[in-house]
Amino acid sequence: MSGTDDDAGVDGGASDHGFDVARRVARTREADMYRDLQPTDVVDSAAYFAPDPGGDLPVLAGERELVFASNNYLGLTQDERVQKAAREAADTVGTGAGASRLVTGDTLVHRDLEARLAETKGTERALAFSSGYAANVGTITALDPDVVFSDELNHASIVDGCRLSDAEVVTYDHCDADDLRAKLAACDTQGSWLVVTETVFPMDGSVAPLAALCDAADRHGAWTMVDESHATGVYDDGGGIVQRDGLADRVDVQLGALSKALASQGGYVAGSDELVELLANDARSFGCSTGLTPTAAAVASEALHIARHGAIRSRLWENVAHLREGLTDFGFDVHGSSQILPVMVGDRRDAVDLADAVRDRGVFTSPIRPPTVPEGTSRVRVAPMATHDRVDIEDCILAFKDAGEALGLL
Ligand code: PMP
Repeated sequence: MSGTDDDAGVDGGASDHGFDVARRVARTREADMYRDLQPTDVVDSAAYFAPDPGGDLPVLAGERELVFASNNYLGLTQDERVQKAAREAADTVGTGAGASRLVTGDTLVHRDLEARLAETKGTERALAFSSGYAANVGTITALDPDVVFSDELNHASIVDGCRLSDAEVVTYDHCDADDLRAKLAACDTQGSWLVVTETVFPMDGSVAPLAALCDAADRHGAWTMVDESHATGVYDDGGGIVQRDGLADRVDVQLGALSKALASQGGYVAGSDELVELLANDARSFGCSTGLTPTAAAVASEALHIARHGAIRSRLWENVAHLREGLTDFGFDVHGSSQILPVMVGDRRDAVDLADAVRDRGVFTSPIRPPTVPEGTSRVRVAPMATHDRVDIEDCILAFKDAGEALGLL
C-alpha cells in the first residue's frame, strides 16, 4: 500500500511498508528469463487433453508440436499402464493423502513405491516426499551438517537446504574432484561434513565423476549425498549414475525427483534404515506437509517398474545417439554426456532466435540463457524421449538444420 497523508506513521512522518511488486516484475522481465505466463480464457479441457500416445502433446499452443524439451525422458506420462495405475489408485485409495504421512496420510501405495525405490537403489529403505524440492530441503536441514561442500551448479533446492540449515557452505568447481579434494583439505571447521552433487546436470547434460567425489569425501570421513533427479529411471536397472557406476555402498544419501523419467510428481530419499527414520521424524518438509498424492505414488511406482524391466531405456539411448550424431554432423556444437543435449549457441539472443525458429518448424525446445547459465554460454536444451520414433528424431534434426541455416548460425 502506498503512503498517504491518512496513513502517516505515529511520529507524523509518512511511512510505506508495502512491496514494490511492479518494480520487481519489471526487473524479472528485464532478465528475460521466463516465457510470458499470460492468463488464458477458460478452455474446454476435453479438447485440450485429447489422447496423444506419441507423448508429444502440445503444452499450450493448441496445435500438435513435437516436444524435445521435456524431462519426461522415457515418455511414460502417456503410457497406458502408468495411466491405469493412476486411475486405480484414485479409485481405491482416493485422490489426495488427506494429511501428513505421520498422521493419516500413509497408504500401501506409498509403501509400495518406497519398497521399489529401495530395491532399485540398493538401499535398506526409501522415503517419498511431496516434491524433489522438499526432499532436498528436508534432508539437508534434518542432517544439520556443519559444512556442506556443494557443486557450483547444484539445484536451487540444494542451495536453499544449505541456507535453511545454517551450514557453512563451500562450493567447488563444477564436476571437479581435484577442486573438491583441495577444498576438503583446506577446511578446518570441526563437525559433520556433507558433499552434495547432482549426478546428471539438467542444463549442461554433464555427469558428475561420482567415484572420484566419493574417494575425496571418504578421505575425510565426510558423507556423500547425490541428487539423481535427472538420472533416476534412465540408467542401469532403472536406477541412476550410482547404479551405473556401482556405488550404492559408498553414497550415503540417494535422492531425487519423481517428476522426470518417473512421469509423476514428488521426491524420494533412499538410504539406510537410520537415515530414513531420522528423516521421517526430523525432516519438516516431510512431516509438516501433506503426504504425496496417492495417484502420484502409484504412477511413480509403475513407471519405475517399467523402467527397470522394459526395453524402454534402450530406445531412449538409441534416440540420444541418433540425435547427437545428426546435430553434430550438421555443425552444431552439442555438449553433455547424458540424455540431455545442450546445443551451444553463445549469445542469448541467438539462443532465443534458434529455439523460436526451430519451433516455427514444429519442434519445441527451450532456450537457456543468463542468469540460468553464465553470459556467453546460452544454449538450446534438447531432450529426446524414448517415445520419439526415428521420423521424430529426423524431423528434429532437420528443423535445427533449416533454422540454423536461416539464421546464419551454421
Ligand atoms: N533437483 C533437481 C536437480 C531438479 O532439477 C529439480 C527440479 N527440476 C528438483 C530437484 C526439484 O524437484 P521437484 O520439481 O520435484 O520439486
